[in-house]
Amino acid sequence: MSSSLATVAYIGATILFILSLGGLSNQSTALRGNLYGMVGMTIAVLATVFGPQVTAAGLPWIIGAMLIGGAIGLYAARTVQMTQMPELVALMHSMVGLAAILVGVATFIDPEASKGFEGAAKSIHEMEIYVGIFIGAVTFAGSVVAFGKLSGRIGGNPMLLPGRHWMNLAGLLVVIWFGREFMNAHSIADGMTPLIIMTVVALLFGVHMVMAIGGADMPVVVSMLNSYSGWAAAATGFMLSNDLLIVVGALVGSSGAILSYIMCNAMNRSFISVIAGGFGTTSAKPTAAAGGAQPVGEVTPVTALETAELLREAKSVIIVPGYGMAVAQAQHTVYEITKHLREKGVNVRFGIHPVAGRMPGHMNVLLAEAKVPYDIVFEMDELNDDFPSTDVTMVIGANDIVNPSAQDDPGSPIAGMPVLEVWKSKTSIVMKRSMASGYAGVDNPLFYKENNRMLFGDAKKMLDEVLTALRA
Ligand code: NDP
Repeated sequence: MSSSLATVAYIGATILFILSLGGLSNQSTALRGNLYGMVGMTIAVLATVFGPQVTAAGLPWIIGAMLIGGAIGLYAARTVQMTQMPELVALMHSMVGLAAILVGVATFIDPEASKGFEGAAKSIHEMEIYVGIFIGAVTFAGSVVAFGKLSGRIGGNPMLLPGRHWMNLAGLLVVIWFGREFMNAHSIADGMTPLIIMTVVALLFGVHMVMAIGGADMPVVVSMLNSYSGWAAAATGFMLSNDLLIVVGALVGSSGAILSYIMCNAMNRSFISVIAGGFGTTSAKPTAAAGGAQPVGEVTPVTALETAELLREAKSVIIVPGYGMAVAQAQHTVYEITKHLREKGVNVRFGIHPVAGRMPGHMNVLLAEAKVPYDIVFEMDELNDDFPSTDVTMVIGANDIVNPSAQDDPGSPIAGMPVLEVWKSKTSIVMKRSMASGYAGVDNPLFYKENNRMLFGDAKKMLDEVLTALRA
């Protein structure tokens, strides 16, 4: 493929990626957005593999690597459970970081790659390598720790080392100092030592940064690492002089940064304080990592039959899904119940908290999969004023996002986080398997409210029973 044809293909792919991001901003156009992204990526890959930068000798290597990588990707996509998606995404971010490190090192030690760079151009090229490896190492280490935290292999408690901010500052100074050494190095061997020291410091920084972030702040970390992976890809684009990678990396980086900002707003947190870590540590209450707080008080259990009765008598119903709905894969039964109630003239709506589940948009994806109409799915802010006029609110496997102590208890680790005010509805029904706490590991006073009922059991099983009772 000639270089001008490759450039045209790259421009086409860039336009498709922009259209893809635009499509993903709305549920009704998300499918189309995905399609644009897939077509754009196919064009990008073909234009790169058959483009002028790849020699005939390199082609079998690239195709071999693509087959192996593609097979692993296909296997993961087919076997991964919906509840494991956040971990998978974190793992994928780590791969982008690792790729940036490897490309950086390969570019540095390959004399061909730096041929033709003199004076200022040479300095800029070296700076690209140094910064690219730095971003890649932070992304890689941070994403691996995020994977550990999301999959429960590492506890959700923030790890707070004494003088941690000073340690981070010292790390940054070391990185800057060795950056100078790296730029002044006269040979590849001379430059290797500062490069390795910086990479180790960046890896430690990535681990430390994510380890210091507490349980309920993890959503911000997930979107932030998404942004970092974009910048790591852009850095790789600079190192490889690949314009498309630079543009796509910048798109992912900036959209991830915007998402992090939105998530921080949704959780009423300042971005800097989340990244600095240590949120919620002043509370003496145990967190998820400590095994979860054990709530105390009297709850009112109900049966599936009684739940069906309450729903049958209701005129307006709000359904609040959470992580437990994803675990139970109950979305299809939820849809069947919704359909049944709507046919009977009940006004059914869904209330989605921005951090419900374990990744941004988790609940929207599940509801879309179950074909719940978009026009009855509302964001928290759109619904919060409507709870007092709602007859029944069904909380399906959600906990932290409906916890009133976020408003009432300034000492709570989730204090200040906006929540869905389900306790204001006439009756709320919480569906979960036990009295265990949610991700943040805190008590939920909602369970003991006079107008609250607890429907214990697996969400899918219990909803199946509710549906059978409704149809009877
Ligand atoms: P929570 O983790 O607070 O609560 C989920 C509840 O679901 C649990 O209390 C659990 O109780 C119940 N549950 C689990 N499995 C089942 C099942 N099979 N059937 C019925 N119930 C079940 O989830 P929320 O969605 O309310 O809140 C999300 C939390 O995750 C927030 O703290 C958020 O900060 C955090 N988070 C969010 C991310 C995001 O990007 N959205 C990323 C990382 C963290 P029981 O065991 O008793 O059944």
